[in-house]
Amino acid sequence: MFGQKKHVRVRFAPSPTGPLNFGGVRTALFNWLFAKHEGGSFILRIEDTDRERSRPEFEDDIKESLSWLGLNWDELYRQTDRISNYEKYIAILLEKKFAYRCFCSEEDLKRDEEAQMSQGIQPKYGGRCRSIPPEEAARRAENEKHVIRVKIPEKEVSFHDLIRGKVTFNLGLIGDFIIAKSAKEPLYNFANVIDDFEMNITHVVRGEEHISNTPRQIAIQEALGFPPLIYAHLPLILGANKKKLSKRDLAKSISDYRKEGYLPHAIVNFLVLLGWHPKEDREVLSIEEMQKEFSFDRVQKSGGIFNIEKLDWFNGYYIRALSDETLTLLLEDIVPPEWIADKDKFIKAVAVEKERMKKLTDFAVAADFIFELPSYAPELLVWKQMSIETINENLKETADIFEKISEEDFNKKIIESKMMLFAEMRGRGEVLWPLRVALSGKNASPGPFDLAEILGKKEALRRIGHARTLLSKKI
Ligand code: GLU
Repeated sequence: MFGQKKHVRVRFAPSPTGPLNFGGVRTALFNWLFAKHEGGSFILRIEDTDRERSRPEFEDDIKESLSWLGLNWDELYRQTDRISNYEKYIAILLEKKFAYRCFCSEEDLKRDEEAQMSQGIQPKYGGRCRSIPPEEAARRAENEKHVIRVKIPEKEVSFHDLIRGKVTFNLGLIGDFIIAKSAKEPLYNFANVIDDFEMNITHVVRGEEHISNTPRQIAIQEALGFPPLIYAHLPLILGANKKKLSKRDLAKSISDYRKEGYLPHAIVNFLVLLGWHPKEDREVLSIEEMQKEFSFDRVQKSGGIFNIEKLDWFNGYYIRALSDETLTLLLEDIVPPEWIADKDKFIKAVAVEKERMKKLTDFAVAADFIFELPSYAPELLVWKQMSIETINENLKETADIFEKISEEDFNKKIIESKMMLFAEMRGRGEVLWPLRVALSGKNASPGPFDLAEILGKKEALRRIGHARTLLSKKI
């Protein structure tokens, strides 16, 4: 119908040659958000034509990570399931003489390249096999090793990029390139074009590193008479030093971050800002807000800076936004089972550590002392210039106060009200520091009243007793 908007169809087309990393998932996210914003479809296409490097376990990893992040797809395809399709188009190109069989050996090609380089010419295939009559080529192909090349015309091609505007390339620089190693072994640039056409893709959204593939793909599209596509080449992701992202950051997969205790919403919120920003430069965004506001005119051309501290900040933020119940459930999966034995104690420990956590795994490190007192040096109990005798005395009086509180009343509020009088009298640091260390064995921890409640009367007294034993050895 006149004026009717075309149904948007985008695809995320990873090659399963490694697990899903930040680069890949940022591409997936921008595709997904654009599809959601436009009421369109998001297609997942596994580009596994490179059989040597593709692995089923990487495909599984990609799918699992996308699902975990909530980037659900509407349709799923795998290129190796579609080989006969590519074969069909190779036949068409050969038939129309837009492609030809090439019998050049590696040595021939190497010699040509060296000759071109020595003349200061940018190397490209010189077209030796272009002129072999197709019938002769077909005959030779029966028992001679060959590849399929596409004929690339000497002309300029342009495409519309939603981030960069009109982009023009000179095809003359490219030369006839290989589209298939054999009829059953299509290569990336070719299979990609066929699928974009067959899957009715409207927009190609992918990383900037693919921009040099675009003129090659357009040349194939034109040879086959496919309609042009709209492109959006996303800016590179740069490391904190504005250089390319380090191998270490790139090598880490989404599943690694998941294992380390990052939340999906934190990762998505962090990634959406790698190249895009909403109006008023807000940073914390719900998934609905991202979907509503996403558009390519707010995607920058310059690289997005990958700053791990920012990811940690978002993660801490989203951990605190979880209810204590949800957080407890998530943590139950990653702590030693004996920690959950006393559920009440576990929930209290979660509530108190929640404020300080950046990652879920921080809990296991930060809260271990709640479940088992770590060994510590008695010197840690010393506040400023206090004498050992005074610390011991203060701890003894603290224990006396604790003894007088009943088990039922042994909560933060009551402990605090009973202790503060004493602490004001003797000095807060002098009373509360040794108590906190006695209960935690740590240099930094939640406050002593929170800890006393979580540990319970018996354990708190046991730990104070232990601290006094340590001190007595020093006297
Ligand atoms: N298979 C390509 C890759 O993993 C996809 C490129 C594209 O999106 O066109 O980088």
